[in-house]
Amino acid sequence: MKAEIIAVGTELLLGQIVNTNAQYLSQELAALGIDVYFQTVVGDNKDRLKEAIRQAESRADVLVFSGGIGPTQDDLTKDAIAELLGRELRTDRPAMDKITEFFADRGIEMTDNNKRQALVIDGCTPLPNATGLAVGVAISKDDHHYIVLPGPPSELKPMFENEARPWLLHQVLTDEMPLYSRILKFAGIGESALEDKLIDLIDAQTDPTIAPYAKEGEVAIRLSTKADNIQEANNRLTSLEVQIQSRLAEHMYASEDVPIEDTVVKMMADLGLTMSAAESCTGGMVMESITTIPGSASMFMGGVVCYSNEMKEKLLNVPHDYLEGENAPGAVSREVAEVLAEQVRMITDTDFGLSVTGVAGPGYSERKPVGLVYIGIAERGGETEVFELRIKGNRDTIRKRSTKTILYRLWRRLVQAEKRE
Ligand code: ATP
Repeated sequence: MKAEIIAVGTELLLGQIVNTNAQYLSQELAALGIDVYFQTVVGDNKDRLKEAIRQAESRADVLVFSGGIGPTQDDLTKDAIAELLGRELRTDRPAMDKITEFFADRGIEMTDNNKRQALVIDGCTPLPNATGLAVGVAISKDDHHYIVLPGPPSELKPMFENEARPWLLHQVLTDEMPLYSRILKFAGIGESALEDKLIDLIDAQTDPTIAPYAKEGEVAIRLSTKADNIQEANNRLTSLEVQIQSRLAEHMYASEDVPIEDTVVKMMADLGLTMSAAESCTGGMVMESITTIPGSASMFMGGVVCYSNEMKEKLLNVPHDYLEGENAPGAVSREVAEVLAEQVRMITDTDFGLSVTGVAGPGYSERKPVGLVYIGIAERGGETEVFELRIKGNRDTIRKRSTKTILYRLWRRLVQAEKRE
């Protein structure tokens, strides 16, 4: 089965937005065992869109559209497909009710163009939009299958996951053996280093397939296999997982699609351990990551955003001569990371104290290079570790990577604590 992704939007062609929907859809289709041979981008122009559809029909079985289904006149995706299929557009009642209710709830008058968002192609399966108003479409004609999704990723992803994927599995991929997947998650290693460790397995893959992809500071691998039943699939996936785990035990923290903070929170809760944090350049990002995970209340006690030197000194007792003076190591230093981690742990009386201090840029600070970060981990009755990181990238990347790295290092400590149990 071959697919083509058609992203519709002049904004994409002008370079005003990045086509992240195509990336997401390619990964999801690959995971279903569907090959994506082409990704097309076309502006909000009906004739050119129809031309793109005709071309895609000549080389793909499944056409997946992103965007162009909003309320405005330049939202033409459904119109173009309907014309080519020789079908009418009709109003989908549940979608119309949702739109009417949306405006009524807010006391805003609904303009006529909003009704366009409830239009679907006659004979299709409407795809409800859980997080927005424009209804999606799935329709098959002759040997082709068309899926129309909204542009905003916050709407496209849930619609694909909850509506389009099941439709593909039950209406399109019926002759194929069911596909079973498992996600393995890694931290503290880049995508290329990880691939390097698995290159022989990746090169030799047939079934299960191995597809690595990177997220900010984390890497995921999706293992997929086609099998008659779930036991057979699980046997194959587990056997491959065990091989991968044995090569990357220091990095593989989960065999499901969860962020590292999720694993950390659960392990600490299970072990009955607590933590706190003192953050400078990450400005609370470590604490934010931890507290987004349900159940963090039992293991996260609190912390300090000690952005200025004054706060490092006043709230966390960093000696003045560590921070200022000709021979001072400075705020971004091994010494200060160590004091911050130990002090926050002692002041909050927690099992682990974490610290982050670094230069997030764009300008250098204390004549230290952008991307230089020290992270510290202090443990009750254990040694304090400090790691020096040299992160390439912009401010956002440096802050996110620092956060993921300290959570990764904490996970390593928890693995040791678990072994001691
Ligand atoms: P709307 O109701 O907002 O008009 P729509 O389904 O018609 O939704 P578009 O108008 O094409 O979608 O795009 C809406 C927004 O969705 C864009 O401004 C952009 O932020 C995001 N978006 C659209 N296409 C993509 C894409 N391919 N990748 C990532 N984001 C996208």
